[in-house]
Amino acid sequence: MNALLEQPQSTFVPSNVDDIAAKVWNGERLSYEDGVRLMHHPNLAELGILADHVRQKQNPGRVVTYIAGRNINYSNVCWVQCKFCAFYDLPASQKGYVLSQEQIFTKIQEMVDLGGIEILIQGGLNPKLRIDYYEELFSSIKAKFPQVWIHGLSVAEVLYIAKISRLSLEETMRRLHASGLGTIPGAGAEMLVDRVRKIIAPYKDTTDEWLHAMQMWHKLGGHSSVTMMYGTVETPEERVEHMIRVRDVQDESLRTTTGSFTAFIAWNFQPDGTPLGDELRGLAYQTPHESQGVNYDPNWRKATGYDYLRTVAVGRLLLDNIPHHQASWVTQGPKIAQIGLNYGLDDFGSTMMEENVVSAAGTDFVMPISEIERLIEQAGYEPKRRSTLYEVFSEKSGY
Ligand code: SF4
Repeated sequence: MNALLEQPQSTFVPSNVDDIAAKVWNGERLSYEDGVRLMHHPNLAELGILADHVRQKQNPGRVVTYIAGRNINYSNVCWVQCKFCAFYDLPASQKGYVLSQEQIFTKIQEMVDLGGIEILIQGGLNPKLRIDYYEELFSSIKAKFPQVWIHGLSVAEVLYIAKISRLSLEETMRRLHASGLGTIPGAGAEMLVDRVRKIIAPYKDTTDEWLHAMQMWHKLGGHSSVTMMYGTVETPEERVEHMIRVRDVQDESLRTTTGSFTAFIAWNFQPDGTPLGDELRGLAYQTPHESQGVNYDPNWRKATGYDYLRTVAVGRLLLDNIPHHQASWVTQGPKIAQIGLNYGLDDFGSTMMEENVVSAAGTDFVMPISEIERLIEQAGYEPKRRSTLYEVFSEKSGY
């Protein structure tokens, strides 16, 4: 008998998503159920084809944008103790820092000298810093560097500034905007599912609080981005739930306000040096029941590049009302970010120059602008610089 005929029958059953593909080709919106099926679909290449189709509809052509900017972490003092964070020092420890205005100006000058236009300025929830600190800081930055865009804070920081300054959220946002805050980054969304938030960041804002704050910012005419940190204790279904909650808010913002989410950025949890990483790897406890609610799983592993590509592809397919989907080369590394350009991504994010939050958790990719451009070109795309609001500049230059 032919040896080939003796091969055991494959037990693999192809998962057919033809009906979802037909919706994508017809421009129909996908449902939560569609998203769940795509999250479980084994054929990654098919997800890429579908996601790239939607990317091409929203941003036709081969342009991949990036922005010349830098991160500035003005303070690492924070009381919130998110279990996934390796960046903060507790206020009581007295070990944390607050950068002086001069230090911040020096960092901005370095960026400006290299042609940068955006600072991503974020810190912890520092009980000593009320709204006057931020108003003074932002207005001083704008006075000295009027051309620099302040992409700053996070929902958690803004909510906390309002609370300790005894102001309404709306008043706080109006004052921050008046002093120079341009856009609010989507960091801190983590997973917009309260079951997950309670486990990984029990003292942080709830899903509704986060989304309501972003709606308020949009109502005031502001733009923001939205992130998703996956790979902790969430299920694939909860990733889809996060996306659908964001999509609903974006629908509402586009219908009723002048502000909106400009971009979606997903990355996976970076476990090294974090309490949550130790818990999930079973390092923090002698027995699983000591983990106090963390879904301790002896099989837990850090999410892979394969998982990243799947997640960003489904993100592009579900979040059909968010125009730009950004690669996270800081967490994924340049190679996966390059591949991601075929899975619905159209933007390479910021040049960063300095990154402290993710690198505190053991991930340390920093690259010059010439390298970003080279990577985009090597992947078969055309690099173009952009503004924070995704206006594309015609010239291509590097530093
Ligand atoms: S993620 Fe932000 S809010 Fe949470 S502990 Fe770290 S600095 Fe504080």
